Amino acid sequence: MATGKIIKALSGFYYVYHEGTVYQCRGRGVFRKRKVTPLVGDIVEFQAETQTEGYILSIEGRKNEFVRPPIANVDQALVVTSAANPDFNSVLLDRFLVLVEAKRLEPIIVISKMDQTSEAVAAEIEEYQKVYERIGYTVILSSFRDAGGIDRIQSYLAKKTTVIAGQSGVGKSSLLNTIDPRLNIDTDEISESLGRGKHTTRHVELYEVAGGLVADTPGFSSLEFGDLETDQLSECFPEFVEVQDQCKFRGCLHAKEPKCAVKAEVLEGNISEKRYDHYLQFLNEIQNRKPRY
Ligand code: ZN
Repeated sequence: MATGKIIKALSGFYYVYHEGTVYQCRGRGVFRKRKVTPLVGDIVEFQAETQTEGYILSIEGRKNEFVRPPIANVDQALVVTSAANPDFNSVLLDRFLVLVEAKRLEPIIVISKMDQTSEAVAAEIEEYQKVYERIGYTVILSSFRDAGGIDRIQSYLAKKTTVIAGQSGVGKSSLLNTIDPRLNIDTDEISESLGRGKHTTRHVELYEVAGGLVADTPGFSSLEFGDLETDQLSECFPEFVEVQDQCKFRGCLHAKEPKCAVKAEVLEGNISEKRYDHYLQFLNEIQNRKPRY
């Protein structure tokens, strides 16, 4: 019996990584009876006679688990956005940050293609970098030719299980391939073909990258706020969370309410006006969401 981590689930098989080797395993009947499904990211006890004939015996308690995509024990999210091609879009970046915060994952912001933008946009991005760093986020500005940025990303990946979020075209796959050329993955292509499939086995796979595990999955590229409610939105803005206890009204949404501590901090210049504007935009979107039945 050994302990390993499921790095891929496909067609009823679970691929368990243990000390440099991957074992193809089946779940035991007992999981089906208990309605427990092993997930990619699970730490499991397994037994294997050969590399292709293994059985998962038990699953360790999960740190967290997600339905879409089906993955467990995620430590952090690399939020990748680009400085150019497509243009830097701060609303989109804040949207991804909200989605990551809503899953209670620690975001690491990577702004790629810094070498492809104008000086004016680069200066704007550096202003944003200051805003995000003040909030406590890690921000890595990178171009694929810049070893320093890549080294920094690598250092954050080590010993962690990381998901990647970001729109397609920002260079998620190129980034991973730059970090580790052996990977040679075309992640955006995977996402698209999955989106069309009807009876898809959601293909979630963890890749060994820079001493850690990285999943690139279509689910974390979604732009929908899904089930997020208005009162949960401000929880996704760490700089609001810090002061919102001082709002006069409980359940203050920091919009039209008087004596709002968040608005006061925006006026003082302690909370970024742009971040606040994006918050109001998202709030409006959630308030106007069509009810679902
Ligand atoms: Zn308020």
